[in-house]
Amino acid sequence: MSSTTKYIFVTGGVTSSLGKGIISASLAKLLQARGYTATIQKLDPYINVDPGTLNPYEHGECYVTDDGAETDLDLGHYERFLGVPTSQANNVTTGRIYQSVIEKERKGEFLGKTVQVIPHITDEIKNRIKILGKTGKYQFVITEIGGTVGDIESLPYIEAVRQLKWEIPEDCMVIHLTLLPYLSTSGELKTKPTQHSVKLLLEYGVQPDVLVCRSEHAINKDIRRKIALFCNVAPDAVIEALDASTIYEVPLLMEKEKLDVIVLKKLGIDHSTEPNLDNWKTFLNRLHNPKKEVRIGLIGKYVELKDSYKSIAEAFIHAGAMNECKVQLDWIHSESITEENIKEKLKGLKGILVAPGFGNRGIEGKIAAIKYARENNVPFLGICLGMQCAVIEFARNVLGLKDAHSREMNPATSSPVIDILEAQKNISHMGGTMRLGSYPCKLEEGTKAFEVYSKKEINERHRHRYEFNNEYTKEFIEAGMVLSGVNPDAGLVEIVELPNHPWFIGVQFHPEYKSTVVNPHPLFVSFVNAALTKIS
Ligand code: GLN
Repeated sequence: MSSTTKYIFVTGGVTSSLGKGIISASLAKLLQARGYTATIQKLDPYINVDPGTLNPYEHGECYVTDDGAETDLDLGHYERFLGVPTSQANNVTTGRIYQSVIEKERKGEFLGKTVQVIPHITDEIKNRIKILGKTGKYQFVITEIGGTVGDIESLPYIEAVRQLKWEIPEDCMVIHLTLLPYLSTSGELKTKPTQHSVKLLLEYGVQPDVLVCRSEHAINKDIRRKIALFCNVAPDAVIEALDASTIYEVPLLMEKEKLDVIVLKKLGIDHSTEPNLDNWKTFLNRLHNPKKEVRIGLIGKYVELKDSYKSIAEAFIHAGAMNECKVQLDWIHSESITEENIKEKLKGLKGILVAPGFGNRGIEGKIAAIKYARENNVPFLGICLGMQCAVIEFARNVLGLKDAHSREMNPATSSPVIDILEAQKNISHMGGTMRLGSYPCKLEEGTKAFEVYSKKEINERHRHRYEFNNEYTKEFIEAGMVLSGVNPDAGLVEIVELPNHPWFIGVQFHPEYKSTVVNPHPLFVSFVNAALTKIS
């Protein structure tokens, strides 16, 4: 293949939520399975500089990369599919684009000129698109453009694509994802919305090369021909994307439809090799043929919107397949749990996970659930705030520090067992200022954590301001809590566990971000295994 990077753009039409992220990740997977290197980037048209300041109800989970970027949850899909870490460069928002153009203007970089959407904003967008290509690491950069064609906000991105298609026509192509609605009264798939959204793209000067059509029903040859005719694409470039039982089926569906072959042909690249998806198929086979089932409770305060805990839910799918079992997740609102109803609420669960989060709402329900898990030998995994709650629960009910709390929830507590770091105390800007990204952690030999990871040093990703307060270390250890993982540079406690319990671990970091299809996270695998072996 030629040494130049190829740029593939994925746009969306008709409606949002068609799954551009999954189609992008599936195409990248197929290219990777043929031995090519690929990465995926998401351009988000909102003004926030990153999604770190967004409430999960607004935008779902905030996904964190190794280099500490707070990003869109689609980046999680990219990593789970490809097994290759993403970085800050993989997610760019309109806010970030404008921020850097305005910074340059203030420095005087455009001195004497009027700064405009075209060319300054579109140039900045094009630079961001090319950053990943310029690393020399990838043969393909797939860029997903957030939003739907026709949105005012995504216009500069579409314009940047038009310019790039003009500047490097050999190295660029556009895949447009659309919807074919099915009208049950006439029993027909309708093509008009697709025609209209392609017309809109054409108005902006962009001719898509491939149309991926989401549909609940198979698309016959006549419909394909009709769409091809109206939209100026080859009939074999009209691809059917049927609803799948799991997102992990989509690469195989796209392989069947030859999406990868069409892309390679269009870009003039060899497609004689076959994709090797052996690992992927082994995973799917396990996923579809579970031998057992296990019920695990996910206790959080954003459970109405399942996207808020996307990476956790996916990590359970990976770990379930590894254990050849189906993990049945019970999403339990922490605000609904009280000391009185707890037995009823958590009855029959074989494992309890207390989720990450911010703020006071629902905190007592989380602490009550941990007390229940600890006293009833139910396997427990606490993540970030979940770990902090485990520390608070232990302080209150084992150490007898009745007023114990995190300073985040109760700044006046007399026992701040979770406290803010000195470095965080004077922070005035909320965006991008938490302890973010990958940090090393040393594991204590002979502990459960060491057994789970089978190594001495690990790296995990963080996103929090508060920490275990080391002033209480001695009291916790003496009362039986093991501090099994510590940051070697700062001495911060990253993992706590209870050796007199079948499986009780709290982690200050987020293991869910690093679980992939091919490499399920060891903590989740071990936790599911413990839930499976729990004596009822
Ligand atoms: N709110 C807690 C903190 O800032 C935990 C954050 C989280 O769970 N991600 O430390």
